[in-house]
Amino acid sequence: MEVQAIRGFNDVLPEEIGRWQFVEKTARKVFEGFGFSEIRIPILERTELFSRGIGEATDIVEKEMYTFTDRSGNSLTLRPEATASMARAYLEHQLYNFDSMAKLYCIGPMFRYERPQKGRYRQFYQVDAEVFGVENPMVDAELIAMLIHFLKSVGLERLELQLNTLGDRACRPKYREGLKKYLEGKVSQLCEDCRRRLESNPLRILDCKVETCKQAIADAPKVTDFICSECQNHFDRVKEYLEAAGLSYVLNPRMVRGLDYYTRTAFEVVSYQLGSQNAVAGGGRYDNLFQEIGGKEIPGIGFAIGMERLISLLPEGGEFVKHPDLFVAALGEASFKEAYRIVNQLHLEGIRAELDYEGKSLKSQMRRADKLKSRYTLILGQEELNRGKALLRNMGTKSQEEIPMGDGFLNQLKDKISTID
Ligand code: ATP
Ligand code: MG
Repeated sequence: MEVQAIRGFNDVLPEEIGRWQFVEKTARKVFEGFGFSEIRIPILERTELFSRGIGEATDIVEKEMYTFTDRSGNSLTLRPEATASMARAYLEHQLYNFDSMAKLYCIGPMFRYERPQKGRYRQFYQVDAEVFGVENPMVDAELIAMLIHFLKSVGLERLELQLNTLGDRACRPKYREGLKKYLEGKVSQLCEDCRRRLESNPLRILDCKVETCKQAIADAPKVTDFICSECQNHFDRVKEYLEAAGLSYVLNPRMVRGLDYYTRTAFEVVSYQLGSQNAVAGGGRYDNLFQEIGGKEIPGIGFAIGMERLISLLPEGGEFVKHPDLFVAALGEASFKEAYRIVNQLHLEGIRAELDYEGKSLKSQMRRADKLKSRYTLILGQEELNRGKALLRNMGTKSQEEIPMGDGFLNQLKDKISTID
């Protein structure tokens, strides 16, 4: 039996990588334009960073983490998300000493032990952006504007921005109580998970996908019935700034997001092109996270985009696969040596060139050039070499022309393959 990858862990193959690189490149360009800097954080962290940062009663910490004990007896966890690690790094390196505001982004794999299905994997990639150190609602709107701009820049359409507020330490407990009281009257309709959540994290029930739970919450009290005036004011201003940026949104009072640390602004971007796993990106404000992980009181807001879901939404086609610029087909010992020399020189100049390494017939080399979708083929047969000429064939138009070997050959060749089309 051949060894296979672990369930829920994917390979990204060369034929798909162009899309990934395009998305990553666009993210870097857009985010850096908005003043963000990349940060790279470890894949492995102490378990307590997540149990304290994300919250014990969340799905992630309760049942989705890849946690193990290392050889020294430390409990370690493969990062299920990036925000807690980024906050840890910000504290650990006292980035606030440089500037109280930090705008950071990171791109990389996350790990969650979930049931693998379309759009849901155990290793998946996120593009993550966070702003630490500012409470101003202008930042909430700006971050959301960046997210939408990025999603549009990669070509996504039919997106919906959903917006909610979750209150803060002052008002959220009241909402929690109100919701809990209401749901206690509906307990028979709740799934097993939600009965447990009723004690540990009743807000999470609003997010449950089970049909009977959805019915149970249909008339549940809304967070907006409970929030304090500060939170209401923050929320109103976020909406104003979004409108000022020309962005439309849909209020979704049931959207709570999975993580404990969120306060006030919560948002998701959903796509009408996706099936049941329709959230492309989600985020929110978290003004308590830093304290949970042992730091000072520092406000923060961020989002994470699911790369696999995003990539599945990219328009079909597009030039994402790279093809050789030139295939050098040769026949005979002397020709191969010449082909090798040419290809080597082109490689040094960053031109994608290929040749045959197996001594195949000219015909089969031409077939390979075709299969690789090379733009041009340079034919170096014995006869051509004898005449001191090489034959350049445009694989698209099928037109051919001879190029004299000798001085200036390489420059002529480069000119032709970059200008003729
Ligand atoms: P969901 O409700 O889909 O479980 P979530 O609230 O757990 O999402 P976040 O933690 O906010 O998701 O992660 C942000 C984004 O990362 C999601 O919107 C989604 O696009 C993506 N994502 C989350 N979990 C997975 C997964 N297991 N596989 C693939 N993508 C994922
Ligand atoms: Mg989830």
